[in-house]
Amino acid sequence: MTQDLINTVFRKEVLALSAYKVAESKGFIKLDAMENPYSWPDNIKEQWLNFIKDCPINRYPDPEAKDLAKTIRKTNKIPRQSEILLGNGSDEIIQLLLMALPTEAHVLAPHPSFVMYKQVALSLGLNYQSTPLLADSFELDLPATLDAIEKNNPAIIFLAYPNNPTANLFKPDDIEAIINAASGLVIIDEAYAPFANASFMEKLPEHSNLLVMRTVSKLGLAGLRLGYIAGNKGIIEQLNKIRLPYNINCLTQQTAEFALKNQNLFDQQTHQICTDRSILMLQLSKFTELTVYPSSANFILFKTKTGQATPIFEALKKQGILIKNLSPQGSSLTDCLRVTIGKPEENKKFIDALSKIIKLIE
Ligand code: PMP
Repeated sequence: MTQDLINTVFRKEVLALSAYKVAESKGFIKLDAMENPYSWPDNIKEQWLNFIKDCPINRYPDPEAKDLAKTIRKTNKIPRQSEILLGNGSDEIIQLLLMALPTEAHVLAPHPSFVMYKQVALSLGLNYQSTPLLADSFELDLPATLDAIEKNNPAIIFLAYPNNPTANLFKPDDIEAIINAASGLVIIDEAYAPFANASFMEKLPEHSNLLVMRTVSKLGLAGLRLGYIAGNKGIIEQLNKIRLPYNINCLTQQTAEFALKNQNLFDQQTHQICTDRSILMLQLSKFTELTVYPSSANFILFKTKTGQATPIFEALKKQGILIKNLSPQGSSLTDCLRVTIGKPEENKKFIDALSKIIKLIE
């Protein structure tokens, strides 16, 4: 009876979906979600609490988050000509972009990439297409992508730079070729920019169909839920029409502003994470049983011998270490695991546990 009701009320695309699952992580060494493992020193916490103490939570927040937007423009070197829009995480911006499209529109992204592009596109009944990344290198297949653009004329193309879950930066020339070939929008998703030293931000004035999206999540503020997108004024104006007016709450507005003004703290943490990435990369590369892929992000993708990813993932979990098992996603991710760079002592526990597990499996 209820099932009949559900079947008649909801779109068939929604009925066919599975909810995005987040693993229970309480009590685990959490190396699964690309978070910054560091919090703030006590003196900074005190300054922050002082800063937000008079936050007017009885009032609606500034619908345009003007002060925060100004700080974001400055700290991200957003070109003067470009407009920005803030979202409740970049997840919300992905949703806004796709909600604005006609239902017959095509959306294109490489595979594997961030799962939310597909999840949101399908939930809205849009046509989603992915072009497989090249085997082994995980580079873009440029001819296949250009072919897909010519055939389907996608309204939006998502390119994560660096890509999740592969951690690599695609070749900038390939991305430029895609921007030039596309007659729709190209979204460069720079969620991992703090760890990459590469960006398309300064290219914004050169291409009217280019938008650059970022988030504060990986920088160390995942709990705030704040993302932003920069691009052509006319395009941002359309997105603003469907953005809910108070999508950035006042505590997020004030906290993010405070945090971004303490950028040096994040710079130190990012530097530490990049140093620890090199160490972890070296340690993982010593396992002859694993294939380790290069990383420009705060995580590392690696491949196990056939059929070993899930047993290794489960054995790590038993020892209180949570990473991400990508193997169930299949195709090029079969036998793949992804580990986020944690604190040095967490990384060590991960490597020690992994070493024992691999010896036992062999
Ligand atoms: N883009 C990419 C490539 C991501 O990997 C993620 C999160 N895993 C996001 C966007 C979403 O970030 P946010 O926390 O801002 O919603």
